[in-house]
Amino acid sequence: MPITITEQNLRLLIDTLVKAGTRVVGPKAAGTMTLYEPLSAGEELNLGGLPRRSAKETFFPLCETILTYEREKEGVRVTDVDPGSVPETLLIGARPCDAAAAPVLDAVFSWDYKDEFFLERRRKTTIIGLACTRADDACFCTAVGLSPADTRGSDLFLTPLKDGGYRCDAITGKGEALLAAHAALFADGDGTPAPLAEPSPGAMDLDKIRGWLDTHFEDPLWEEIAERCAGCGACAFLCPACHCFDIVDEGGEAKGARRKSWDACGFGKFTNHASGHNPRDVQPQRYRNRIMHKFKYYVDKFDQRLCTGCGRCIRACPVGIDIAAVLEEINSKGVE
Ligand code: SF4
Ligand code: SF4
Repeated sequence: MPITITEQNLRLLIDTLVKAGTRVVGPKAAGTMTLYEPLSAGEELNLGGLPRRSAKETFFPLCETILTYEREKEGVRVTDVDPGSVPETLLIGARPCDAAAAPVLDAVFSWDYKDEFFLERRRKTTIIGLACTRADDACFCTAVGLSPADTRGSDLFLTPLKDGGYRCDAITGKGEALLAAHAALFADGDGTPAPLAEPSPGAMDLDKIRGWLDTHFEDPLWEEIAERCAGCGACAFLCPACHCFDIVDEGGEAKGARRKSWDACGFGKFTNHASGHNPRDVQPQRYRNRIMHKFKYYVDKFDQRLCTGCGRCIRACPVGIDIAAVLEEINSKGVE
């Protein structure tokens, strides 16, 4: 039996969970932008458009302390931050391009080293995904194998209905548990789905793109595209799938903290060695790494791509570098 929820009850669900002590994160107006932010009440939920930054911060904060240290009379006291201290969380209104990135990131954070900070947040988070009814010129999820109604990564999935409210589909056991725990807010029934967004780029041949990358580590294309790249890192910071970070001790001799902070392969010092040697010493080499990592290395390693076609890097790039256009160009080249 299909299940629906009204807009009012969706906001009531947030109120109920917030009162019960659950951390609820969802799209919220922030000045002229919409951002995924902690919500203190259902009325703050703003499902109007794609948030400016991705939802990855729910699992992978921009900066987090992993231990602190303090010099004592004899020796140094080191205190680990307990990853288990992260709260139960509901991420609500995640667009398919954001929700789908979460299981992609699971692969790297649970590979040789288990990142308990990331994994504990993933375990304790339920994701309510939301189908898109609007796309802009930068959206290209359909070109990378997703769609505006893709349920990957969601535990519960909402489809907007023509006459208001949402159809709810439980995708995982977590989604079923949420429905069961708040059954009074949901109703049996169906409805007519609102028309879905139609991102313009059609599907690309991603295997062909990977094949070209296999044989074109050196190619004039990298200079052509990336000579103008400013190395600002906006593309990586806004991306739901980019996940590089650095670990730095901050503080002084008496006390301080070890922090894990986002990093970006576009930054000039990202690969700088202590010796001063930098194996990627010019910007085209750094941009090449961005494309190679997303569409070859991660595929080779985990059989997944580090791009969900959200278009954020296209919207934000100060010099107009368009990753969808880059992929289209490679797609048009064929494998030589
Ligand atoms: S590479 Fe760009 S389009 Fe792809 S997921 Fe990241 S920000 Fe979105
Ligand atoms: S946003 Fe544009 S200029 Fe900045 S690092 Fe990315 S590709 Fe380069």
